[in-house]
Parts: sequence; structure tokens; C-alpha cells
Amino acid sequence: MAVTSSSMLLRNFSSVGRVAQSVHVTSKIFFSTGELIKVLPCTRSSRSICSTRAAHNEEAAAKAAASVADTGAPTIFDKIIAKEIPSDIIYEDENVLAFRDINPQAPVHVLVIPKLRDGLTTLGKAEPRHVEVLGQLLHASKIVAEKEGIFDGFRVVINNGVEACQSVYHLHLHVLGGRQMKWPPG
Ligand code: 5GP
Repeated sequence: MAVTSSSMLLRNFSSVGRVAQSVHVTSKIFFSTGELIKVLPCTRSSRSICSTRAAHNEEAAAKAAASVADTGAPTIFDKIIAKEIPSDIIYEDENVLAFRDINPQAPVHVLVIPKLRDGLTTLGKAEPRHVEVLGQLLHASKIVAEKEGIFDGFRVVINNGVEACQSVYHLHLHVLGGRQMKWPPG
């Protein structure tokens, strides 16, 4: 009965944000009843609503970032390279820095970046002179996977441009692993 009420509540809300909020609150309400805890957080509707909201946030962030992409303005990664803001560094050499993503999408989620951006705001800006550093980034990704114990299955992703939801305009490789990956990606 309580589950049915929750489903009705979900159907009656109109905006994604409000629905997601109600899912959160509803989950809390039912935390005291063991059986329902297992059912509610795993309903298909609540999961798809949350992932829809996350996707909208990513798209909005990507659109906002794209508006300053071609200015060559420094990014948050410059501060991380300069160690002006802290990061959890996994690997570092003369040319490459690898650190944990602040918003991990998998148990292991590490960003691998060139220390010198040198025009590489996106992969799409790569020129022949960048070939060496591009190879170094891939090689560093392999080292990260090895260090993180995900060598049996990991994914390396580059989001290029607004339609790929790139939000930081300093080339970076996402190294993801530690869970079963799905294909095709979203
Ligand atoms: P993109 O969306 O551009 O492909 O990826 C940018 C990534 O940078 C995102 O996954 C985001 O979570 C991560 N990120 C943004 N700001 C910070 C930060 O200050 N520290 C760390 N460690 N990661 C960040």
C-alpha cells in the first residue's frame, strides 16, 4: 500500500526537481520499515528520474563552460596543477598529472591531464605537435589503471565539446573502473 502511494506521489509531481526531492524524502520516511527500504530506492522510476536530473545538470554545466572555452581562460585544473587547491594525486611525472575526480562516476575515477595545456582545451584542438603528449596521456592512463587494480577492465573517456558534456576546457582523460561498464554509453 505504501509503495503504491509513493508511485502515485511520483506521478503527481510535474517537475523533475520536485520529483527527485520527493523520492529523497520518501526514502527517508520509509527508512524505519525494513521491507520497504529494499523496494523504494531501487524503483525504475526513481532511478531514471535521478539520472535524468544528473544528465540535465551535466548538459547545463557543459553549455556554461562552452561559452568561455575559446577564451583560453585558466581552468580549475591550473589550480590543481599548481597545487593551489588540493587533489588526490594518483600519478605524476614531468608532463602528466593524474588525480581522482571530485565527482566519481565509478569506484575508480581518475582524471589524467597534461601539465601544460598548450592549446589543448579539447582533443579536437590537437595538432601534430601534440602527438607526443597525447601518447604520454594514454600511457599514464594505463599506469593509473595498473596502480588502481582495475587492469582487468577499465574505460578511458574523453568528452570533447558541448555535445559530449565537456565541462572543463583543459584536455583530460577519464579513467573509470571498479564496476561493470555498460555499452553503449549514455
Ligand atoms: P568533463 O565533464 O569536462 O569531461 O570532466 C570534467 C571533470 O572534472 C568532471 O568529472 C568533474 O567532476 C571534474 N572536476 C571538476 N572540478 C574538479 C575539481 O575541483 N577537482 C577534481 N578533482 N575534479 C574536478
